[in-house]
Amino acid sequence: MASTSGPNLLSRPSARPTPFSVPRTQRPPVVPSIDKILSALPPTDADVFRLVLDGVPLVCRTPPAFRDLPPLSTNTDPNDASPARMWATPILKEPVSFFVVFTRMPGFFCGPGCTDDLRYAARVALRFTAAELDAQIEACVSSGRASSRTIFTPLLSYRLACIVALTPLNVNLAIPRPPPTIMAAYAWTWRTCTTCTRHVGHALGGTCEVLCEDALWFTELWRKLVAILRLRPDPDAVLVRGWEHLSKALRAPLACPTCAGVAYQHLRCFHGLLIVEIAKRVAEVSVFVSGGA
Ligand SMILES: [Zn+2]
Ligand SMILES: [Zn+2]
Repeated sequence: MASTSGPNLLSRPSARPTPFSVPRTQRPPVVPSIDKILSALPPTDADVFRLVLDGVPLVCRTPPAFRDLPPLSTNTDPNDASPARMWATPILKEPVSFFVVFTRMPGFFCGPGCTDDLRYAARVALRFTAAELDAQIEACVSSGRASSRTIFTPLLSYRLACIVALTPLNVNLAIPRPPPTIMAAYAWTWRTCTTCTRHVGHALGGTCEVLCEDALWFTELWRKLVAILRLRPDPDAVLVRGWEHLSKALRAPLACPTCAGVAYQHLRCFHGLLIVEIAKRVAEVSVFVSGGA
């Protein structure tokens, strides 16, 4: 087959090492691709990665407490009379009200001693900012659905614990840096492209050192993603709201001969791996309820 010299948006990323990649990571990094990442991830992480690629919010996965019910969906199908449809839509719409219901009726969905239903409602409520959550709580109290704000203490503790769990992703740094766990494993084009990388401490054409910085178009994207997470400690917020920033960030690399052919796939892979990381950390947080409602 004849080869073309120009970038091809449909082509897989080239495995050709760049002179900049080796000194920056001290070992030959892996060129990111959807196939490689899917085969390297554990099965549960690969499921999350696939949902991200498909643009399906993670809250649509049926939580463990409702294992026997069909998968959830945020799309309301009027012909769907399944049990999941009957309760999923109200929980997804009003997680704070359902947090009260599940607190008052412990084990309502998942059996005595189990708090999976509470955790699910609390997990859905992560999509609110602190102010939005406060307004939801106030509405529950003023309408009489909750007798006082005390019932929401576990919900607020859960949210706080999720924020703390995300700290290792460098969300709270004044100058946020992308998490090294994701950045170091792959040869991302925003750090290997000699045109886009911001070179510090050496002449252009020399060897990149640790001071060389990621492409500006990527660091700006990272700041936008961090801004989402600071407001909402929710993997789905980064999934749904992140897309707009991803497509804007793509404009600059599409004008770069080196990045044009790979930037879209690299950004999708990074977005997917980031959300896998956020989802894993949030999934480890429990809701502790003491003394019942
Ligand atoms: Zn480039
Ligand atoms: Zn450099």
